[in-house]
Amino acid sequence: MVSHFHGDHVGGLLDHPRARIVAGGAGADHALSLRGLTATRHAILPALLPDDLRDRLDPVESFARADVAGLTAWDLLGDRSLLAVDLPGHMPGHLGLLFTSGGRQVLLVGDAAWTTRSYRDLKPPSRLARNVMHDWPTTLSTLAVLHALDAAHPDLLILPAHCPEGHAAWYAGA
Ligand SMILES: [Zn+2]
Repeated sequence: MVSHFHGDHVGGLLDHPRARIVAGGAGADHALSLRGLTATRHAILPALLPDDLRDRLDPVESFARADVAGLTAWDLLGDRSLLAVDLPGHMPGHLGLLFTSGGRQVLLVGDAAWTTRSYRDLKPPSRLARNVMHDWPTTLSTLAVLHALDAAHPDLLILPAHCPEGHAAWYAGA
């Protein structure tokens, strides 16, 4: 399951040459369409993408819809135990993953927020970071959605990929 295709989120794909790859179809199309310096400018590193990515891709849109908490979601295992959640803005097809672990609901949000503080205090990334975001207004609206989810569901652990504070909360609850 790939949240999005930025180079720092796909480093393990080449280690799993037979695995199916679940990802947003738009994200895969975007990543595969870019080459050279243009790809680098979009934080895509083509050398990290399997040559047969297209053949092994299961676009998330091919799974049954199972919207949750007002968010578009897809049921990856058919029993609502593992939901891919649409968290748009950071990159085309950017996804989160919702599941239960140790009795607690966890929402991995990839780069939809970079820190816990960002969604909790509704603090967007700096203006300098705008260049990295595919769609800045949508990035902000997704951050607002995470902020509201956090406020409404205090037991839900929302975990950004790059947040040490979030990782500490994860290990504390494990
Ligand atoms: Zn990213």
